[in-house]
Amino acid sequence: MSQPLLSVQNLDVSFTFQDGDYAALKNISFSVYPKEIVGIVGESGCGKSLTSHAILGMLPTNAMIKKGSIQYRGTDLVSLTNEEWQSIRGSAISMIFQEPMTSLNPLLTIGRQISEVLKKHTGFCNKEIKEMTIALMKEVGLPRAEELYRAYPHQLSGGMRQRVVIAIALIGEADLVIADEPTTALDVTIQLQILELFRKLKQTRNTSLVFISHDWGVIRKVCDRVIVMYAGHIVEEGPIEEILQHPKHPYTQGLIQSIPDYKKRGEPLHTIPGRVPALRERRGGCPFVDRCSLRMDICQTTYPEGKKHGNHQVKCHLYAQEAINI
Ligand code: SF4
Repeated sequence: MSQPLLSVQNLDVSFTFQDGDYAALKNISFSVYPKEIVGIVGESGCGKSLTSHAILGMLPTNAMIKKGSIQYRGTDLVSLTNEEWQSIRGSAISMIFQEPMTSLNPLLTIGRQISEVLKKHTGFCNKEIKEMTIALMKEVGLPRAEELYRAYPHQLSGGMRQRVVIAIALIGEADLVIADEPTTALDVTIQLQILELFRKLKQTRNTSLVFISHDWGVIRKVCDRVIVMYAGHIVEEGPIEEILQHPKHPYTQGLIQSIPDYKKRGEPLHTIPGRVPALRERRGGCPFVDRCSLRMDICQTTYPEGKKHGNHQVKCHLYAQEAINI
């Protein structure tokens, strides 16, 4: 296998409050390979977005990396200065957020916003920049690009605005894009089109993607591999179809059982009882212990080691004595 583009190893992130430090991410380790789309899935508060912000050096001011490394093409991002970050963000690694309006300036035309970023990354004249802007708009599937060049963000639909944000994210030729719930605000048809665009970019531009979502349907459509997070921990990881067909961790099983299924119309939707513990409620042992119907005594006191079978990994005491039989 090729070298990973991104390698996160043993990452711990804590928040500092007046009454002390509280761990929000514990022992996060995963890799993203070239041309790979890796999904991160879990309920709100599980640490998905915090993981992406740690990768991009955009942690909130009261959050801190306590230990671990984040290597991008062999460079440790954790030790970069602010100036060094400027050359990475938007060029090597780009970010796409859920709500495109937060990334776009409502007072500037679409063409101007794309052109300004292009100017920063290239030395071309205005005429060439305009041609490149229109070509980029067409590449991300914006119809009537010449006309939309002069439009303002509020004149575009949500899906079109997200395409503009994707176009801007591509300008620096980033080979890693982190997309945080990029289709959540869109209706289903537009969602499908944007997911198809991500898959196309993987093929045509060799872009790798970290795709954060709480929606398994979305993850299944776009991802090669999936990481399941719970309460700041990675609890399971593997190829997407393998995880969907043979989930091992009780949390993953609960999430998958909760996916709405039209064949079960009329039946009550499965839910996982309880909620994700708040930072101050987290303690030792298995992070899922309070919600797990299969818990044992050891789960209260001892954090489960990861067990691996091929490229499927799970952290649960149910599999402590055996290699996973998939
Ligand atoms: Fe449940 Fe124990 Fe496995 Fe945690 S380690 S998921 S509590 S069985």
